Amino acid sequence: MSFRLLTKAWRQQIQPLNRTEFSSYILHRSFSRVSERPSFGIAFDIDGVILLGNTPVGGSPTALRKLYNYDGTLKFPYVFLSNGGGIPEAKRASELSELLGLNVSASQVLQGHSPFRQLVNRFEDKLIVAAGKGEPALVMSEYGFKNVISIDAYASRFENIDPLAPYKKWTTKLATTQNPKFDESGPQIDVFSERVQAAFIVSDPVDWSRDVQVLCDILKTGGLPGRNVGTQPHLYFANDDLEYQTKFPSERLGMGAFRIALESIFNRTHHHSLEYTCFGKPHPSVFKNAEIVLQKHVPRVDEDSYDINHKNAQPFQTLYMIGDNPAVDIRGARQTGHPWFSILTRTGVFKGKENHDKFPADLVVDTVEEAVDYILAKECA
Ligand SMILES: [Mg+2]
Repeated sequence: MSFRLLTKAWRQQIQPLNRTEFSSYILHRSFSRVSERPSFGIAFDIDGVILLGNTPVGGSPTALRKLYNYDGTLKFPYVFLSNGGGIPEAKRASELSELLGLNVSASQVLQGHSPFRQLVNRFEDKLIVAAGKGEPALVMSEYGFKNVISIDAYASRFENIDPLAPYKKWTTKLATTQNPKFDESGPQIDVFSERVQAAFIVSDPVDWSRDVQVLCDILKTGGLPGRNVGTQPHLYFANDDLEYQTKFPSERLGMGAFRIALESIFNRTHHHSLEYTCFGKPHPSVFKNAEIVLQKHVPRVDEDSYDINHKNAQPFQTLYMIGDNPAVDIRGARQTGHPWFSILTRTGVFKGKENHDKFPADLVVDTVEEAVDYILAKECA
C-alpha cells in the first residue's frame, strides 16, 4: 500500500505522538469508545472509483464492506456522491446493492439531478421537458413535478422537427417505464399551445443532434417550437462534467460537452446568449448537502435515543471525498473547505501520470480500497 501525501498540513498531522500524548490518546479512546459516534463520514464518487460501467473497480465491494457491522447495519456513515444519474435514487440504490453485494439505501445515493427536487415549488404544475439517458421524466415525476414530459415524447409530437430522424436506424422506446402509474409521454399536454417553462438536462443526452435542435427550438421561442422568438425558458443541467470514465480506455464526453455544444450553437443562431444553471460537483452546495445527509447516517448510540432527528448531531471532524476527477471531485472538496479532505484514485479519469497541480488532492492512492484502509487506519487507530 502506498500513499502519496501532498499537503504540508497533512504531514504535520501524522507527526508521531510523544509518550504522554499517546497514553492520554489511548485512555481517551478506551473510555469514550462505548458512547462514541464516528466523527467522520465518506462520500464516494461512483464512475471511475466504485464502478467502470457496471463492473466494480479498485476492490470497491471489499472496501465498502468494511463500513458495515457484521449484522449488515452501517458502522460508519457514507454516501455515494455522483454527478451521474438518469434513474430515480431508489432504483440506483438497488442496482448498486446488487452490483456490490451490499445493502445500499436510497438516501445514501446523491445524484447530479438530486438538487432538482428543490425546484419543485417553482415548477410543480408548469410544463417542463426532461432530457437525457434512462428515465429522465420518471426521475422528475418522482421528485414531485406534475407536468413533465421527456424530450423523446415531446419531439415526437412535432412532425418534421428532426430532419435527420429518417436516417436514424434506432427506434426510440416511448413505452411505459417500470412504474405502471407513470406515462413517459406525459399528461394530456397540448404542446402547440402550452409553453415549456423549463428544460432539465437530467442525464447525458443520447441523441445530441435532435436534442440540440429541439432545445434550441424551445429556448428561442419561449417554449413553443415553430413560433416566434420569445423569452428564454429556464435551463438546468444536472452537472457540467466535460469528461468521465467508462470501460473504454480514454475518457468519454459528458454533459459538460453537450452544454458547450448547445451553448455554442444557440449563441451563434440567436441574438441573446444562452442562460443556464449547472448543478453537481464541484459546486460547494453539493458537498454541504452531502454533509447534512451524512449526519442522518451516523449510527445512533444509546445516549442518542432522545435525539432521533439528529438535532444535536456533533459536527464532523473530517469528511472524505474519494473521487477520480481532479476538476470535479477534488476541486469541489477543496473549494468547500473544512472539514472536507480530498482523496484522488488512479482508477478513472486520473490515471496517475497527468499533471493535476491545478486541483491538487490532499492524498493520492491507487484504488478506493486503499483509500478506505487509509481512513480506517487513521480514524480507528
Ligand atoms: Mg468519476
